[in-house]
Amino acid sequence: MKNINPAIALGEEQLSQILEILPIGVAVIHRESGHTYLNQKGRALLEQEANTRISLKELLKTYPIYRLGTEERYPYQELPIVQALKGKRIKAKDLEIRIQTKVICLEVEATPILDEQGKVICAVVTFEDITEHKRIEAERLKAENALWESQHRFATLAKAAPVGIFRTDTQGKCLYGNDISFEMIGLSQEESMGEGWTKTLHPDDVEDVQKKWYAFALNGVPFKCEYRFLRPDGSIIWVYGQAVAETDINGNVIGYVGTITDITGTKETELALQQSEAKYRRLAENIPGVIYRYVLHPDGKDEFIYVSPRIKEVYGIEPEIILEDSANSWNIIVAEDVEKLRFSTLISCQTLQPWSQEYRITKPDGEIRWMEGFSIPEKQPNGDVIWDGFIIDISSRKKAEETLKEREAYLRMVVNNVPVILWATDNNGIFTLSEGKGLEGLGLQAGDVVGKSAYEIYADFPSIIRGIHETLTTGSSYHAQVEVNGRFFEALGNAFSDEQGNCLGIIGASFDITERQQVEQILADYNRILEAKVAERTEALRQSEEKFRAIFNQVFQFIGLIKPDGTLLEANQTALDFGGINLEDIVNKPFWEAPWWKISPQTQQQLKEAITKAAQGEFIHYEVDVLGKNTIATIDFSIRPIRNNQGEIILLIPEGRDITERKQMEEALRKANLELERLATLDSLTQVANRRYFQNYLEQEWKRLTREQQPLSLILCDVDYFKRYNDHYGHPAGDDCLIKVARAMQLAVKRPADLIARYGGEEFVIILPNTNLAGAIKVAEEIQEKIHQLGIPHAQSQVSQLVTLSLGVTSLIPGVEKTTAELIEVADTALYRAKKLGRNRIFPSVPPQIVQNIGCEYLATPLVSE
Ligand code: GH3
Ligand code: MG
Ligand code: MG
Repeated sequence: MKNINPAIALGEEQLSQILEILPIGVAVIHRESGHTYLNQKGRALLEQEANTRISLKELLKTYPIYRLGTEERYPYQELPIVQALKGKRIKAKDLEIRIQTKVICLEVEATPILDEQGKVICAVVTFEDITEHKRIEAERLKAENALWESQHRFATLAKAAPVGIFRTDTQGKCLYGNDISFEMIGLSQEESMGEGWTKTLHPDDVEDVQKKWYAFALNGVPFKCEYRFLRPDGSIIWVYGQAVAETDINGNVIGYVGTITDITGTKETELALQQSEAKYRRLAENIPGVIYRYVLHPDGKDEFIYVSPRIKEVYGIEPEIILEDSANSWNIIVAEDVEKLRFSTLISCQTLQPWSQEYRITKPDGEIRWMEGFSIPEKQPNGDVIWDGFIIDISSRKKAEETLKEREAYLRMVVNNVPVILWATDNNGIFTLSEGKGLEGLGLQAGDVVGKSAYEIYADFPSIIRGIHETLTTGSSYHAQVEVNGRFFEALGNAFSDEQGNCLGIIGASFDITERQQVEQILADYNRILEAKVAERTEALRQSEEKFRAIFNQVFQFIGLIKPDGTLLEANQTALDFGGINLEDIVNKPFWEAPWWKISPQTQQQLKEAITKAAQGEFIHYEVDVLGKNTIATIDFSIRPIRNNQGEIILLIPEGRDITERKQMEEALRKANLELERLATLDSLTQVANRRYFQNYLEQEWKRLTREQQPLSLILCDVDYFKRYNDHYGHPAGDDCLIKVARAMQLAVKRPADLIARYGGEEFVIILPNTNLAGAIKVAEEIQEKIHQLGIPHAQSQVSQLVTLSLGVTSLIPGVEKTTAELIEVADTALYRAKKLGRNRIFPSVPPQIVQNIGCEYLATPLVSE
């Protein structure tokens, strides 16, 4: 204090007085005691009584201090007062104290007061309420922001607005324009500036625009004008231009600001509208449908305000009748559709959504027609709802739709009844379709795999995966065969693509070919058996030949030596042993007189001739039977002439090879082949002869009996009501029945020459050679009896509880003037008569021209066997 200027060396009294009147809050805090002094302003600010003495601690407790504008408590160590007590001078503007509901922002300056040693004695804190300050500043900031934003917005707007914005000077010369305005004018920014923009004004509109602009510029008539720009590219744009004057502070016009809006669309519509108004009315009368206006009043009453004349054709009622009372239109609507119409009308009334319905009406002439109505509701201020709409007759479309639906249903039925799976995938191999009866075989339902990837489903079937991938990538067609759960499927598919040729997926069909495979398997097995049999026989033959060759090599061969005149000179032991002959007995005698040849004179004669020929140089070779000691052997016999050096024949060498065994083999083979042939002539189901064999056999027997002039009989029979049998018991049971019937027939037919054949379906034919009509009828009766014994139930037969036959019997003695076809025809007619007479019976008949040949007592009495 000593250094303080005397002029201000005031006493404590005066100092306190000064402090008390300062316009800012002052607090002095004593460091040691913590005592606090507050001046008047300070007390007022903190709402303290005049003479309270408060400690710093209490002060801080009473007035929670926050960081300005936040919920954060001001950290104690950072408080200006605390800092000052530590010796720092500090200013802060971010304090906020809360006194009850009041929030006070403070600007604080804290100064430490030091003693001579530099130790803090006390801190002086000045504080000022800057709440108002802050508020004003915040507002100013806000206003500034708003201004900036609005300016910015305006700039953006001008740039992005769908309208052209421009400024001109007082002469109308363009100073500014946004991008859109230049676009509308059709000129670049540079070109448009000044008077440039008038260049593209449509010549027809220049005068009008000028007139209005002058009226505006001179007389202040607001500028509003619709005009056109004819742009350099030839296009025309309609604009709506507006402008207002821009003034300075003194109200002097300094230029004009305006907008141009593209109204080409509106303008065109407007023009079109004008033109269409008249057309529209004509149209209303002439379009194939009815146009109407219908009102629903708030009280629930309704009426038609307008109905176009076409209603006469469509509903068959005069428009006046409907206009008179709406009930007249409701009454003709088919009862089932009325509710639907009323309901949808109410919904449309409440939601004001467009109304549309398909419904039926009964025209006055009783015809029912399909209608389609469409209308748009509009609510009126008085609560009425008005619909403007039209009605058209869609009966033919409906019919077409129905036919289409039927056809689709039909196709679907087909798909669902044949063992086919129709499927499709998208280009990722995801199934988009799967239906068809064939799915059953996989235990699937239609659509089960839709949405799933074929690649996942068939992960275990590399051939499918490969096929699908290839089809999707190359567009090649898809073909695969797989076995799934013991069933075989064949799948065929094709890629389909869009117009650009991008593959969109595959459409395909899969077939359950299990049955086919099985049949093929059976056929293959059968073929294999046949082949094996043939191979077996070939092998037998080969072995026999080998054996034979062995015999030959081991000189089990007959060899001799004779002179050209036939005198025997030599014979080998094998030959002698075979004949049980001594060489002495035959040597030097004619060879043909040896015992071997004594089998027959023809054989000897043959040998004689052979020797003659051989003596002339011919090699002789034939097969012949020769006599052995106690057997006959077939030998492969040859005579070979031997010449000397001069070429003269000096000797003949007869050789004989026993081929009896081979002969027997060949015979066995022939028989085996016959058996094979017989197999090929069998009907696979019933194991009786098939129709081909029947024809051959009939021809053969016909020829034979023509020669012998013996009778030939034919029985043609057919199972009664067999279609019903199949329908009732199923096709497999039908097959079974046919097998049993064929077997029963075999029991009835006894002679080896008789032949049963399957003539076709459930028809059999029996050939009875050397049998007359009486005999044939007996066989027919026998067949009937055997079938009866079978006792096969037939619930659907109308003639019996059991399966029965109808039989046509005929007989004739074949002759060259007749044909087998005639015989069959007579049998067929007889069968037809048996059926006609009630089935389960025998009907005998003979060709009329040969009745006399038969001598048959049966013909005298009509024959009906039950
Ligand atoms: P009708 O008494 O007049 O002979 O009547 P039907 O039903 O027997 O005669 P229709 O000719 O109308 O029917 C013959 C039926 O025989 C039709 C066919 O389904 C059945 N059929 C033909 N061949 C076979 C076959 O090999 N197995 C089975 N199970 N049925 C067959
Ligand atoms: Mg039948
Ligand atoms: Mg038949």
